[in-house]
Amino acid sequence: MSPLRDAPLRVLIIGAGFAGVGLAIRLKQRGIDDFVILERAGAVGGTWRDNSYPGAACDVPSHLYSFSFEPKFDWSRKFAPQAEILDYIQYCVDKHGLAPRIRLDTEVASADDVLAPPASPPAFLLLALSGLLAAPTAVAAAPPVAPTPVRTDSAASPLAVDSDAPVEPPAEPGHTLAPRHRVIYSNTISARLNPLGVEDRVLFMYQRRLWGRPGRLFEDTHIGIGPIINAAPSISRVGATLQVVPLALLHLRASYYYIGYFGTQEFKAHGFDSPSDEFGPDTIKARSEARQAIPLVGGGQAELSALLQAKLGPIAIRDEVTGFNNQIKLPGTNDVFYDLRHDLLLPGRGWFLGNDADLLYVAPRRHFTLGARATYFRVFYPEAVYEPGEPIIKGNNDHARVGPLFAYTFKDRPHRRFMRPTLFVMAQWWVKHRYRTGQEINQGLPLVVIGFSFTGDLWKRD
Ligand SMILES: Cc1cc2nc3c(=O)[nH]c(=O)nc-3n(C[C@H](O)[C@H](O)[C@H](O)COP(=O)(O)OP(=O)(O)OC[C@H]3O[C@@H](n4cnc5c(N)ncnc54)[C@H](O)[C@@H]3O)c2cc1C
Repeated sequence: MSPLRDAPLRVLIIGAGFAGVGLAIRLKQRGIDDFVILERAGAVGGTWRDNSYPGAACDVPSHLYSFSFEPKFDWSRKFAPQAEILDYIQYCVDKHGLAPRIRLDTEVASADDVLAPPASPPAFLLLALSGLLAAPTAVAAAPPVAPTPVRTDSAASPLAVDSDAPVEPPAEPGHTLAPRHRVIYSNTISARLNPLGVEDRVLFMYQRRLWGRPGRLFEDTHIGIGPIINAAPSISRVGATLQVVPLALLHLRASYYYIGYFGTQEFKAHGFDSPSDEFGPDTIKARSEARQAIPLVGGGQAELSALLQAKLGPIAIRDEVTGFNNQIKLPGTNDVFYDLRHDLLLPGRGWFLGNDADLLYVAPRRHFTLGARATYFRVFYPEAVYEPGEPIIKGNNDHARVGPLFAYTFKDRPHRRFMRPTLFVMAQWWVKHRYRTGQEINQGLPLVVIGFSFTGDLWKRD
């Protein structure tokens, strides 16, 4: 049986010279085990196996002509002779347990031989010596499911980018496997107009990789936990989040925060007695001038969210639904309060829900993402918050908006301290809102969010 037919492989390397052996060690160090090296000769070593004439040696100092990740400190000469270099390559093969993965006396006559059906396809990547020669078309064409295309503003907050995962452009085929354990951080700063707001979100998260398997469905799957802070001049949240990504198409998150409202009158929480009360921008402005905001209020806020996504070629669709539960004790007779962060009249104790649906074009070389987002928020008021005898009008304070979004990632190298610096901008016109669809604010004025985010690996271990 062909060595290629045993099982689909992630990487197929041709040649067990310096380049092939070095690449194999690096793959193993990144947790990628399903690769095979095909070598046409009967031994490893390449150049240093074939050139054994008297006096053969390297002409670059040996401490440079060796792997940085496998240094050798006892070279016999500054410019080591051929036999010593060959021994070194063999030592690397033995130390890293590569022998079982090397098929000696196996010549690859053409790429078609190893990539053609019925092997279909036997490997994700075919690498000859040190360069990519070909990827099977079935792999190069994006499979229907892909990791997060991009995370910009989320249902959790119209005020800011509020996803608990870093901004993630899509991975290309052959994307390196995430380390088994890692600690990541992400930071997102954003400013918003209509209504006005600014916020910085900082997240630290320990992540444990779930599947070390090839395939885009399993990329970056993990379970993670860590602290999260949303800081704004008048509204801040501090909490912890638990994130589970069982497959690249599904992100689940549960968070609990302490949220506090403080600062200047216009940005503080404003208490009301009923969901039917007026809470539009004019009302809030008048109440602020009369200094009627709640001086300082805070409490618990739980968040549960699920993100489902899929990608076909450069087109991605995503939907994220987030349920929020407030446990905030309001003063006096107040049962509800105006929350500028979500631009909603919320119950002190009770649920509300947000949904973001995206249709995106992800540029194949991952520099930019262009698309549209539709956002919807619904508040579930407990009956007790209505005044006695007052009619209960459901959905009166819900809101919806829709519009384009654009994100540009300057540079993206995986598993670094500083990754994916991304600039994003989004404009959404209000489709449903008690005050922003012409009643108090001109409907032509969209909600605009501009922001910048970046992420990075702080620590990792395979
Ligand atoms: C005498 C000498 C001195 C040198 N000194 C230096 C130096 O000082 N500094 C420097 O940078 N470079 C030097 N070089 C260049 C040297 O070739 C490279 O540094 C390096 O060893 C190349 O490694 P490689 O793995 O890319 O290729 P190779 O060492 O050529 O290995 C390729 C392997 O692929 C196998 N293979 C090829 N085709 C197929 C196929 N179709 N199917 C299956 N297997 C296949 C071959 O059998 C071989 O084992 C020197 C070269 C020579 C000859």
